[in-house]
Amino acid sequence: MKYIDEFRDGALAQHVARSIKCEADAGRSYRIMEFCGGHTHAIHRYGIHDLLPANVRMIHGPGCPVCVLPMNRIDQAIDLALQRDVILCTYGDMLRVPGSSRERGAMSLLRAKAQGADIRMVYATSDALDIARQHPQREVVFFAIGFETTTPPTAVALQLAKAQGLTNFSVLCNHVLTPVAMRAILTTSEPDATGCTRIDGFIGPAHVSTVIGSRPYETIATEFRKPIVIAGFEPLDVMQAILMLLRQLNTGRAEVENEFTRAVTHDGNLKAQRVMSEVFALRDQFEWRGLGNVPYSGLRINDSYAEFDAERRFALTVAAWQDHKACECAAVLRGVTEPHACKLFGTVCTPDTPVGPCMVSSEGACAAHYTYGRVRLRKAASGNVG
Ligand code: SF4
Repeated sequence: MKYIDEFRDGALAQHVARSIKCEADAGRSYRIMEFCGGHTHAIHRYGIHDLLPANVRMIHGPGCPVCVLPMNRIDQAIDLALQRDVILCTYGDMLRVPGSSRERGAMSLLRAKAQGADIRMVYATSDALDIARQHPQREVVFFAIGFETTTPPTAVALQLAKAQGLTNFSVLCNHVLTPVAMRAILTTSEPDATGCTRIDGFIGPAHVSTVIGSRPYETIATEFRKPIVIAGFEPLDVMQAILMLLRQLNTGRAEVENEFTRAVTHDGNLKAQRVMSEVFALRDQFEWRGLGNVPYSGLRINDSYAEFDAERRFALTVAAWQDHKACECAAVLRGVTEPHACKLFGTVCTPDTPVGPCMVSSEGACAAHYTYGRVRLRKAASGNVG
């Protein structure tokens, strides 16, 4: 059965690849941003680049929640764990992301753990709640990050903590909003050397859109005249989305289309949206690595859950920070440069010795380029490997 499925998928992929080649107008170029790191990894893992005509170029977007989190937010978590004697719970991706290099060298949560901080990797918010119940004498903080996909579970954890009267549990909230970031990219998008906009259309997020639906992208497509196709993470999903985008661009349309109909609806998951709006409120602004301060792009815990807000409970402040001087993560996240253009790529910065978050995260663009080796293979083929 598996063989038949693979054969069928391979034949379909060849068919879609041929359709893309037929659809691509040789007289123009197509620059498509895949917003999500999940799409970036699918493109590299399955070699989708190699199936595209030369004038169809994929551009990485900022859709990796670990990558866009600025260092000062990681510093807050490290400080909580090292200096406030809390049990800090976090998803595994965050553990190795370097914080600010000020004062302590490139400290990460993993290094803080090695120095004795009580930092625990969790798979779900319910794990953090369990730890809080098991340690009533200790403060337990859940370091919450992510787009709209991971926001509802954090909201549910806060509701449960309140309902169960957990007094030693709080959340360090760093949840951010996808459509606002997409709008920010288009608003601040630098033109390329020829003066053209760098982005012709978007492959829209998959998991995020299961929660928010396709509706929130509609004003973006209309206002900026950019087509958006929401796609799943399978290679065929990505290829089909590219074909749909080319068809829109060739016919002058700028619409939101949904390739991922098996999971995404127009209105999304209304129950999840209700839970989020009960627990969270918009921040006036939130700083993103690569995009800077973006108005109304992040969530805070609202006043009715104030006692569970780690920022208020521990009177946390946000300090100034600076990326490693040679790290190009900010430009990679805006789609302005490619990972291999960074001087540190594959030499100083590798998945074992990451300098920036794009090399750490399982959704990071640098990790995708490094892991699937296509850049190195291409360089090797041209005799250009150092
Ligand atoms: Fe940052 Fe490393 Fe990527 Fe360079 S290779 S942009 S240092 S993560």
